[in-house]
Amino acid sequence: MDLFKKIEDFTLVNDLKAADLYHYSKEIKSRQGVVVNMDGKDVIMVGSNNYLGLTGDAEIIEAGVEAIKNYGSGCSGSRFLNGTFDLHTKFERELAEFLGKEACITFGTGFQANLGIIAGITGRNDIIFNDKENHASIYDGCKLSYATTMRYDHNNMEQLEQLLKDAPENKGKLIVVDGVFSMTGDIAKLPKIVEIAKKYGARVMVDDAHAFGVIGSYGRGTADYFGLTKDVDLIMGTFSKSLAAQGGYCAGDAKVIDYIRHNSRPYMFCASLTPASVACANKALDIIKRDDKRQKNLLEMAKYFREGLKKRGLKFHDGHGSIVPIIPIYTYTRERTMLACKMLFENGVYVNPVLPPATPEGECLIRASLMAIHDKEMLDKAMDIIAKVLAELPEDTVGIK
Ligand code: PMP
Repeated sequence: MDLFKKIEDFTLVNDLKAADLYHYSKEIKSRQGVVVNMDGKDVIMVGSNNYLGLTGDAEIIEAGVEAIKNYGSGCSGSRFLNGTFDLHTKFERELAEFLGKEACITFGTGFQANLGIIAGITGRNDIIFNDKENHASIYDGCKLSYATTMRYDHNNMEQLEQLLKDAPENKGKLIVVDGVFSMTGDIAKLPKIVEIAKKYGARVMVDDAHAFGVIGSYGRGTADYFGLTKDVDLIMGTFSKSLAAQGGYCAGDAKVIDYIRHNSRPYMFCASLTPASVACANKALDIIKRDDKRQKNLLEMAKYFREGLKKRGLKFHDGHGSIVPIIPIYTYTRERTMLACKMLFENGVYVNPVLPPATPEGECLIRASLMAIHDKEMLDKAMDIIAKVLAELPEDTVGIK
């Protein structure tokens, strides 16, 4: 059997392109701001994870430039060997302190962090309990580990408890969960998770990629939001959203972080973060610590957007009262979703499609995500366009399967 047969059978991309519904990898020729130049036209960006709007911040850019001037463009080695600069250790110290944990470790990306943490701390004798809507990098971390993985229905605490109840006592247990779920904006039921973990002797890891900078005091994230910083063993996150750079991290007890440093292959066998990435993230952290006005504006924009969608009669996933700036609007079928993205783009708004397996079949969404640099006027403009386009969308759009 020819290995490449599956490639010939893979027609989705061509089908989408033939139907003029391909909405991926558009070329951007500007910064990630409120308006971006994409595929040659200016569109309102309502699909970025630049939550605090810091990627174009002058202070951060200056910090990155300075780091390149002083340290060069790369680190030329693993953190474990010749790749640890004082920039890395300073940032890890300051982030750990901000998050209320003893220590912190950084990785090349958030994706790598999840691979490295999960596979680093779990093994053959352990069980990982994984919410079905957790991020792909958590799934892959579970795959990379020799532990058994048990999935529970999204946010279903009865099921999680039953799984833990049935698990053998002599197994190590890790519950891993997105603090804020990336596609729906749901917030994890952390108080219940912590309660269950304590009852059955499990450890808890929270992926705060979409919570850092967004919820909790000064954006400290999900554990802080619920007053559970001490009860969450590992707080993982990324630089690629509120920290306005590229990289990943994990904060926890010093002993645990030290263990990960010496047992995590994606950490040990990978070149360390570039000076510019660390310096930019560190400056973003300085700005976040200085005041919380960006976070406040972000949450106000999210509230305004939800109210505006309601006023315009649009059905969105409200995340059970979630306050976060991820607001997915129902478009139901795959075809209507891709068509909605295309029509929105033509009308000057960029949003992201959410298709299966990220959502159940028939419950597809367009995922609006907001930034602290949005203002009400811009959001009204975007919502008017969204309302107009969704009203024009045919009930049944045939095209792609
Ligand atoms: N976890 C979650 C919940 C995410 O949404 C993402 C990225 N979108 C990641 C981890 C991976 O982070 P990074 O982009 O830094 O690789």
